[in-house]
Amino acid sequence: MAQVAITNVAKAFGTVKVLHDVSVDIADGQFVVLVGPSGCGKSTLLRMVAGLESVSGGTVSIGDRVVNNLPPAKRDIAMVFQNYALYPHKTVEQNMAFALKLRGTDPAVVAERVKRAADILDLNPYLKRYPRQLSGGQRQRVAMGRAIVRNPQVFLFDEPLSNLDAKLRVQMRTEIKELHQRLKTTTIYVTHDQIEAMTMADKIVVMRDGRIEQIGAPLELFDRPANLFVAGFIGSPA
Ligand code: ADP
Ligand code: MG
Repeated sequence: MAQVAITNVAKAFGTVKVLHDVSVDIADGQFVVLVGPSGCGKSTLLRMVAGLESVSGGTVSIGDRVVNNLPPAKRDIAMVFQNYALYPHKTVEQNMAFALKLRGTDPAVVAERVKRAADILDLNPYLKRYPRQLSGGQRQRVAMGRAIVRNPQVFLFDEPLSNLDAKLRVQMRTEIKELHQRLKTTTIYVTHDQIEAMTMADKIVVMRDGRIEQIGAPLELFDRPANLFVAGFIGSPA
């Protein structure tokens, strides 16, 4: 596990600035939620931590390394997206093993890691199935399994539950939290859903228009919002 430091980070696409002087410190093992309206820059910030977007200013560190110029594969992170495309022609087992095999990991290690992920996520009955034979929640768990097998230092989630129905969303929220309590992997979780932020986060980062409005524990933001935007955003139902 590792701490993540985002320090005075800026991002511009051409002449359009979408992030301004953003700083967030994430402690080892912490579960931090980035929340804010659509378009405020959450995904861009997460993608910069992942190495999928370049940094226009400031630094991103993972552990004790500044990673601004490191490619995604060297950052020791694993990302779970909203549209977690599983390989349709591979079984659950093969989907989870694929990234490790690609890296030339020893087959015995691959098998052991896949088994551990399947145990953690209750996927053992489904290992030989194909994605089309799974429910939405099961597919989501396979997507998480693919992240877990890599034993990353940091998990990055970008609105992983947005495509699920309300009931399943509640269930998966609990599963992701339990996963975190078990593995204690440092996590950055992006959502536009206040309820998700309030129920899952150790620490919430409220963003608006490429800036941070407030950072604090869920109850802190609820009890002492820094301004009307935070009060309205955290206080209003999803
Ligand atoms: P969020 O995830 O909070 O909805 P994004 O990080 O996706 O927001 O987007 C933040 C802003 O950056 C938006 O105005 C979006 O249109 C813009 N943006 C994102 N990616 C690109 C890109 N590749 N090129 C140009 N503008 C982009
Ligand atoms: Mg987004």
